[in-house]
Amino acid sequence: MSSGKPGRSASKRSWRTKIKTDGSACLVFVLGLSITAAGWHSAQRSLTQDTRAYFDFRVKQLLATIENRIDNYQQVLQGTRGLFTASVAVERSEFQRYIDSLNLAARYPGIQGVGFSLIVAPAQLPAHLESIRREGFTDYEIHPAGQRELYTTIIYLEPFAGRNLRAFGYDMFTEPTRRQAMVYARDMNTVGMTGKVTLVQEIDSDIQAGFLMYLPVFENFQAHDNAAERRKHIIGWVYAPFRMRDFMSGIGGERSADLHLSIYDGEEVSDTKLMYSDQIDRVPQKAISKRLNLTVGGHTWTLVIHSEAGLKNWLNNYQPLLILVGGGGLSLLLALSTRQYITRGQALAMAAAVNRALQESESRFRLLADSAPVLIWLTDVKQSAIWFNKQWLSFTGRPLPEQLDQGWLNLVEPSQTELVLKLLQWHYQTRKPFNVEFRLRRHDGEYRWILNTGAPRFNNDGEFVGFIGSCIDITRHREMEEELWELATTDGLTGFLNRRHFLVRLREEFDRIQRNAELQSALLMLDLDHFKRINDHYGHAVGDEVLQHFAQIIRSQQRKIDIVGRLGGEEFAIILPDTELSEAYVLAERLLHTVAGTPLAHEMSLIEITISIGVAQLNIGSESPDAALKQADQALYRAKKAGRNQIVLQSQPETTPNQPRR
Ligand code: GH3
Ligand code: MG
Ligand code: MG
Repeated sequence: MSSGKPGRSASKRSWRTKIKTDGSACLVFVLGLSITAAGWHSAQRSLTQDTRAYFDFRVKQLLATIENRIDNYQQVLQGTRGLFTASVAVERSEFQRYIDSLNLAARYPGIQGVGFSLIVAPAQLPAHLESIRREGFTDYEIHPAGQRELYTTIIYLEPFAGRNLRAFGYDMFTEPTRRQAMVYARDMNTVGMTGKVTLVQEIDSDIQAGFLMYLPVFENFQAHDNAAERRKHIIGWVYAPFRMRDFMSGIGGERSADLHLSIYDGEEVSDTKLMYSDQIDRVPQKAISKRLNLTVGGHTWTLVIHSEAGLKNWLNNYQPLLILVGGGGLSLLLALSTRQYITRGQALAMAAAVNRALQESESRFRLLADSAPVLIWLTDVKQSAIWFNKQWLSFTGRPLPEQLDQGWLNLVEPSQTELVLKLLQWHYQTRKPFNVEFRLRRHDGEYRWILNTGAPRFNNDGEFVGFIGSCIDITRHREMEEELWELATTDGLTGFLNRRHFLVRLREEFDRIQRNAELQSALLMLDLDHFKRINDHYGHAVGDEVLQHFAQIIRSQQRKIDIVGRLGGEEFAIILPDTELSEAYVLAERLLHTVAGTPLAHEMSLIEITISIGVAQLNIGSESPDAALKQADQALYRAKKAGRNQIVLQSQPETTPNQPRR
């Protein structure tokens, strides 16, 4: 009897334990899920905000591009009007030459031509027809035909070929849409833009919507300060027709595929008003949309822009999903493992710990990245930049959206951009860590040398997902290196190479010559004559001045490629690359004369100086750099012995009896 009791209480206890553990597991699961949901929601919201900001930025860019293009076209019209202001009458050939020189097809895409529409009063009509027909256009008429108070006629339209010929003689003032823009341009003395029209040039099946821009031309030397004067003195309009699709081609940059643009005439959005659309049949789901107005030349266009769903790919759009999947999975794991724990307290503590770990891993990375004293960047698998840390943004002083994708490349010193891009592409192929140095524009406009260190990133499955990298400013470091290099290689008094480094360069030149039998160079050895006397007479300090004076003369006479060294004291040497002996002689002679003819002014006197020069040849037959130096030195010695202030060429081999000698 007593044996049943413990059995019952044991089963009761295990039953109670089961409720406790399973209940806790459920609780943990639900808790985990709700935390995950909250995390997902906040990530989703911040993604939406980021995407919206990015979209707004892209829209601004697009609008600026369109405005910029229209601006360029207005410039073309202004320039053409200038032609009329500059001369009494503009001949057809003159107009043609001018428009030709603009190179419209290459420089102004979408422009159908540039023309001039002349105003003809009914009384002048016969004379006008006569004069145009006399140019050789025997069929010329103004069309449409009919009696009117006033005629306008397109007399010039360049390029005067193809579909443009249809417009010759067309009276645009008879057509209300064009007329409105012409009147606006005339009365306001500004550019007038029409609404949607079908150009008379549309002759084939590829019919596009079009529009025109006008600028009035007034009679020379007549006032046109107000509308009344303008109406009285206008003689016509320079104008340009545009085919809309051609005009828009290329606008939007290389990634225009992720934005869809429609342009409507006026402020109404309807099929009849549609001027242009790159819209695919339907607006993508969850697209971000924007509608804005663009007013040019008294006319308004409505731009409707939709984002493609792919726009989000430029940002971390996988983050919410990651949180959702990761968090859900973790909650489940946690719930299962909670069943191992007896107390609810332990389970809750563990749930909290895992949740913290989850949140911390993300924030720890950001904190670390944002507080590190280096510039950090992240790129994705397609080599697009997807993130920069705070230091990078404050160093460059540019907002994040501008730098995403390839935007940051604009901040690389222009001459290095291509190289940097090539290097990155190469490292993307090899997927190995790398170091590159280049110059990056700082917020104050100064280009700074940057050491950029990148490392490939791989996900848990070992797939390559992009690079992470950091940059440090090494400008000061490089400057110090340069200073040290300069100190180590140049002579302080003259700025020329010191003896040691000159010998290094001589060795390099010697090696270069040895590799190619065709090459030959020359070596000059120079020494100031009786320099001891100058020192003795004027003192050592003035002696130094004389050396600097001499260095200055060499500098003024040497060619860029020549390499000058101070071998010691008042002895100098010059390597003349790719120079024959005879040429070297001419150069040496010029130097000799310049030195002799340029005394140094010192207090009340002039210090006359002369030099002696020995010349040796460097060619495939030269034994060594030292041997060449010795030959030049021997020639110099002979110049000294022969009386100084002269040049001696190296002794020729014994076989040549008539060695050149001075
Ligand atoms: P020569 O025409 O034979 O060359 O006569 P020289 O007097 O120039 O004779 P030499 O080349 O033997 O003498 C060089 C003198 O240059 C010796 C030294 O006092 C002087 N000297 C060497 N280095 C410097 C220097 O850095 N500054 C000054 N002021 N004098 C120097
Ligand atoms: Mg000397
Ligand atoms: Mg000497």
